[in-house]
Amino acid sequence: MTSSLRVAVVGAAGRMGGAIIRLLTTTPGLQLVAAVDRPGSSSVGQDAGALAGVPSTGVRVQDQLAAALATSGAQVVIDFSSPQSSPQVAETCARAQVAVVIGSTGLDPASRERISAAAGSVPVVMAPNMSVGVNVLFKIVEDVTRALGTDYQVDVLEAHHRLKKDAPSGTALRLADAVAAGREGPSPLRHAREGLIGERPPEEIGMAVLRGGDVVGEHTVYFFGEGERVELTHRATSRDQFARGALRAAQWLAGRAPGLYDMQDVLGLRGVK
Ligand code: NAD
Repeated sequence: MTSSLRVAVVGAAGRMGGAIIRLLTTTPGLQLVAAVDRPGSSSVGQDAGALAGVPSTGVRVQDQLAAALATSGAQVVIDFSSPQSSPQVAETCARAQVAVVIGSTGLDPASRERISAAAGSVPVVMAPNMSVGVNVLFKIVEDVTRALGTDYQVDVLEAHHRLKKDAPSGTALRLADAVAAGREGPSPLRHAREGLIGERPPEEIGMAVLRGGDVVGEHTVYFFGEGERVELTHRATSRDQFARGALRAAQWLAGRAPGLYDMQDVLGLRGVK
């Protein structure tokens, strides 16, 4: 019998941390061996399973990742904490030689650079959206942009729950990247529109953001033509599909060479025609 993959979860007390722990505990071949949240969190010392609303796991939430890795024998870390903490999580994993899946969004260029440097010594999957459907959408958006050509103007609209901290969402920005990848020439982003803005430059990608209630995540890419419009929409109805993708990424990382990967790699979508 092959042994289970030993997983540590960072951001264990959060919305995504909880979804991942719930799914982890019922997925064959995966074992929760450590759970970490920020120092000062009321979750520290509590059972990670009880915190996530499932039976006790025997794993208590800790507040120091390095110590948790040293004692748990974790083979992969899944981190959905925050854009401020994820670079340090990646560096700690690199020092401990443990693979890491990073789901935090809103990372600035300097933070991405630190994660990229960590990926020089351990395998890292970083993706602003771990859902299979959204990652297929990235691919479709690039292909549709290429097929429709320069006569169509593109805007992206996203909606999320009222507690989301970054805007636009990492997924909306990645959708804009997919549009840019399907075009020749520059595609500057236009964040919202107000006032006497004049005619719309055809090459800009408009970004509009809605926030409120409990919306898990909705994204639409509009392709506006003369006399018609194409809309590609993804609606997330639960966090479980992000968690499922994160676990899939963790399994894919086992035994992988150091490097920075994303969900296109995990799902085998890169270069697919
Ligand atoms: P949340 O605020 O509910 O949870 C974050 C958790 O991380 C909290 O428990 C917090 O205490 C903990 N944390 C903060 N700093 C920490 C540190 N230094 N060390 C350890 N733990 C720390 O947020 P959430 O809704 O679960 O989202 C978390 C992140 O994941 C956000 O950046 C969000 O945008 C992103 N997200 C990504 C995806 C994806 O598919 N990639 C999907 C949903 C959310």
